[in-house]
Amino acid sequence: MLDLIIIGAGTAGIAAYKEAIKHTHNLLIINDGPWDTTCARVGCMPSKVLISSANRLHDIQNSHEVALNIEAKFDTSQIMTHVRQLRDRFTQATLKDVNSWNPAHKINGKAIFIDANTIQVNQQQFQAKSFIIAVGSTPSFDIAWKKELGERLITSDQIFELEKLPKSLAVIGSGVIAIELAQAMQRLGVETTIFARSKKVGSLSSPQLQELAQNVISQELKILFETLPQKIQKTDHGVKINYLYQNEDQQLQADYLLVATGRQSLLNTLSLENINSQYQDITSLPINSETKQLDHLPIFIVGDAFTNTPIQHEAAHEGRMAVYNCLNNSKIKNIKTLTSLGIMFSSPEMATVGQSYKTLKQKNIEFVTGFVSYEKQGRAIVLGKNKGAVEVYIDKKTRKLLGSELFVESAEHMAHLLAWMIAEEVTLDEILDKPYYHPTLEEGLRTALKHARRQLIK
Ligand SMILES: Cc1cc2nc3c(=O)[nH]c(=O)nc-3n(C[C@H](O)[C@H](O)[C@H](O)COP(=O)(O)OP(=O)(O)OC[C@H]3O[C@@H](n4cnc5c(N)ncnc54)[C@H](O)[C@@H]3O)c2cc1C
Repeated sequence: MLDLIIIGAGTAGIAAYKEAIKHTHNLLIINDGPWDTTCARVGCMPSKVLISSANRLHDIQNSHEVALNIEAKFDTSQIMTHVRQLRDRFTQATLKDVNSWNPAHKINGKAIFIDANTIQVNQQQFQAKSFIIAVGSTPSFDIAWKKELGERLITSDQIFELEKLPKSLAVIGSGVIAIELAQAMQRLGVETTIFARSKKVGSLSSPQLQELAQNVISQELKILFETLPQKIQKTDHGVKINYLYQNEDQQLQADYLLVATGRQSLLNTLSLENINSQYQDITSLPINSETKQLDHLPIFIVGDAFTNTPIQHEAAHEGRMAVYNCLNNSKIKNIKTLTSLGIMFSSPEMATVGQSYKTLKQKNIEFVTGFVSYEKQGRAIVLGKNKGAVEVYIDKKTRKLLGSELFVESAEHMAHLLAWMIAEEVTLDEILDKPYYHPTLEEGLRTALKHARRQLIK
């Protein structure tokens, strides 16, 4: 009997293996498909490379904002080659690590459960005292659309394989992945149209910031809010989409349809119903959201397979921490311990830190909102990036920083500062006592914090 079997070798599974091997060599890791992680192959990394080229081009094309006059020349096949070259560099680094592991610990293949202690892979059965399930997720799309459109329907799994960029693209979805990719495409000269089921862009829950984000992002990207295709057809050169907009029949032709409407868990590939017939429906599994334990079994489900934070660093953290729960079954701990931090690499960037506006409202927590607009913020003007705003949420009684939502240039860095401070449970007054270099975007945070303080003093 093995001590541990890890199913899935993505970010979470790899982190779990690297932690587990410090404690036991009596283990297995099983993976179906490539061992280079969703993040490096088709997720975080290639998307950020594409966005980086798109943003640099945008800056050159808008260089007049800093009194320059530069003409940009670019070849989209070179951009896509660059995306894949860097992507390969990142996947190779992961594979180099995985290839250094003991081959006897690794199995290629799809695992299914036979019972709570037994799995089967490639017709062989293995038993273990505990399991970490880290099978991740896959893009959702409408099968009927795929049948109609064939290779003209793409998801984030295929987009980085395009040899050159299309002339036009229709995108379904306005969440994080949809907006990141659509904005990059638009900036790279692809005529992009988004179909959005609701009136929402990206991740912000604050009504004020959400409205601002919709206005700013819509200035450069065509977003059809509360509009979905009524009919989709393949044409000789791409895709024809019929839709109803403001009560009028409309038609759009595009080279490709990118579906970015979320991802579905791969838990359904594991035959969990062999453990308990009630596990047939993977959407209602009895998984503890803090310990990530399935029922009272020695089975822990980590990463994107079951989460409301489908984020790389959360997956890695859960993978590492679940090892403790597997090896110390009598003292199971909460492994969801990180201060919440979500970043969206749009332009301006969006970020949510700690408790979001929506969560605070839902929990009826008494808080004040400190607000700063970056339209007149000194450093933002200097950079020619004076757009967006930030909100900080301060507990009325304890004066502690509870959370923040950001829609601003370099939100990724300020969000980290705020997350680390929330983790240290500091008060508004303590944060205002810290140094603020001049002139920086962080001075805007001070403005927001002072705005909150004025409301508390009243
Ligand atoms: C386009 C895009 C952009 C993203 N950008 C960011 C970003 O900027 N920042 C960020 O933090 N996150 C980002 N993410 C999310 C991040 O990639 C995920 O949170 C992370 O990859 C999840 O890791 P995981 O280990 O849970 O799953 P994965 O890395 O997907 O690993 C799961 C593994 O399990 C295998 N598997 C599945 N079923 C079985 C089975 N039955 N038996 C054996 N093996 C199986 C799979 O083949 C796979 O290898 C992005 C995602 C996408 C798609």
